[in-house]
Amino acid sequence: MASNRRAFLTATAAVGALAAAPASAAPAEPDDRPRPTTAPAALAELLAGNRRYATGLPRHPDEGLLRRHTLAAGQHPFAVVVGCIDSRVPPELVFDQGLGDLLCIRTAGQVLDEAVLGSIQYGVAELHIPLVLVLGHERCGAIAATLDHLRTGARVPGHLELLVDEIAPAALRTRSLPGDWAEHTMRANTIWVRDAIRADPAFAAATVTAARFDLDTGLVSLLP
Ligand SMILES: [Zn+2]
Repeated sequence: MASNRRAFLTATAAVGALAAAPASAAPAEPDDRPRPTTAPAALAELLAGNRRYATGLPRHPDEGLLRRHTLAAGQHPFAVVVGCIDSRVPPELVFDQGLGDLLCIRTAGQVLDEAVLGSIQYGVAELHIPLVLVLGHERCGAIAATLDHLRTGARVPGHLELLVDEIAPAALRTRSLPGDWAEHTMRANTIWVRDAIRADPAFAAATVTAARFDLDTGLVSLLP
């Protein structure tokens, strides 16, 4: 018991020392870095940030007090990311971006509904964001649930039905392809979402691109 208490006191002291560390110990923060204003520049910035993330050398930009205070007056994010809710695919981390950089809209399997479309439109029409990136990822739970439903015919409970209904067409289109059905479905679904956004005149001002996140390598690759 006594040694436990000693260990607790030691740990508490260590936490206290960390909390008292001077602010200058934090990594330098490039709050004044130039923001992309075109779709190609925005995509290049995202892919450069992803390479930093994938190689374990993230800068964690735009997380400090200066950036927070600057943004209090208004936001100018440079990309919309339409991605999955998966806890392993948070766009700000995956692309090594910070506060005010990305407008992220996340649903399971990155499916579309009116709330998602309205949110994208806010980014494109009101905030003049030049790039919309639809981001799918491997081993997606929403894709797996859809395939399970199609294989077994089991009823989909409650609100999950919308997700399965949205993903099922991509699964059915790719069912006869050789190889990994889940991977084929994820790619087909992500491309379908990209094309649906592209075809909508509400988003004509933006470039819409699709990409795949690899859970193993951490890398994002563009889909054709
Ligand atoms: Zn997912």
